[in-house]
Amino acid sequence: LEPKEEFEQSSLAVDVMRPRRADPALATLTQDGMNVGEVEALVESTHYSGFPVVVSQESQRLVGFVLRRDLLISIDNARKRQEGVVSASQVVFTEHTPPLPPEAPPPLRLRGIVDLSPFTVTDHTAMDITVDIFRKLGLRQCLVTHNVRLLGIITKKDILKHMAQISNRDPDSILFN
Ligand code: ADP
Repeated sequence: LEPKEEFEQSSLAVDVMRPRRADPALATLTQDGMNVGEVEALVESTHYSGFPVVVSQESQRLVGFVLRRDLLISIDNARKRQEGVVSASQVVFTEHTPPLPPEAPPPLRLRGIVDLSPFTVTDHTAMDITVDIFRKLGLRQCLVTHNVRLLGIITKKDILKHMAQISNRDPDSILFN
């Protein structure tokens, strides 16, 4: 990313994050509230590279971040190799499996693929600070929170597009400079 002088002083994380007001909601996974079929449907209905994991849709409390490719590989492996894992199997991102009804199919435990400390900024973090962190840590994305609630996501491309808008340049020319 380009030096931070490219940035307007006044840009905040909330100005750059997705979703925008008119966009569909942030696509999130709940830590123990979805089954394999629901997770597959969510992943297949979007092209996002990753999905935040939250405690529940109501709380939007952040648990971690899962990469799309890790999800797809793990589900595929489990369906092939793990006895009894079917679309109705509960997907569990928590440390302990919640009690399941006796007739339930075996759960799919995916705690191991969750990044439990994804980088986060608050909605009011200045973008020059956020860009600095992206550059120093080599981030691909970071999550945006307000108090304990997850609000959105900023990818490296979102930042490049925002910078291009400010300077009226083609994002590719910034990326490949
Ligand atoms: P990139 O920005 O590199 O294309 P993605 O494909 O992951 O990366 O994201 C595409 C767009 O969708 C970006 O604007 C990003 O902010 C947004 N986005 C990424 N993940 C999600 C998600 N889980 N839910 C909603 N929007 C997302």
